[in-house]
Amino acid sequence: MTGLSEILLLGDPNLYKVSLPVTRSEWPSLQPVVRKMADLIVAFRVRYGKGRGIAAPQIGVLKRLIVLNIDKPVIIINPEIEFPNQDKFSLWDDCMSFPNLLVRVERYQHCHLRFLDENWKQHSWILEGDMAELIQHEFDHLDGILATQRAIDTQSFRIINI
Ligand SMILES: [Zn+2]
Repeated sequence: MTGLSEILLLGDPNLYKVSLPVTRSEWPSLQPVVRKMADLIVAFRVRYGKGRGIAAPQIGVLKRLIVLNIDKPVIIINPEIEFPNQDKFSLWDDCMSFPNLLVRVERYQHCHLRFLDENWKQHSWILEGDMAELIQHEFDHLDGILATQRAIDTQSFRIINI
């Protein structure tokens, strides 16, 4: 049984650390981590009605590994992102590490994502809008950056009742 208490919360030192790449030889040993991450997204959605992705450092595993649950679970290993242009948009961002806080941030409108899947196959995705900002959020976790550190200004925070 996976409990939401396994998700590290804002202020936990591990959330501010840079994660290491996943090596091919260690990948099989990370399967339980991936399962736990996928289960936590589902549990978070049941509890809070939101949640599209989680990064491994959010459960204290400092590896460059992301699990999304959009229509289905997507496993993203060792992602790299590039921004083809400077177009940006702003949004109220949320995070599984601070369920009752929204942060106004700016993200790039477009991004180019390259990653390995669970079969170690390379993928290349061109993303925009919702998916682009989601990937930027999750990728930031791998570099120890939270949305709170991307706040547009000192008034870009909103507590919500959930
Ligand atoms: Zn997050």
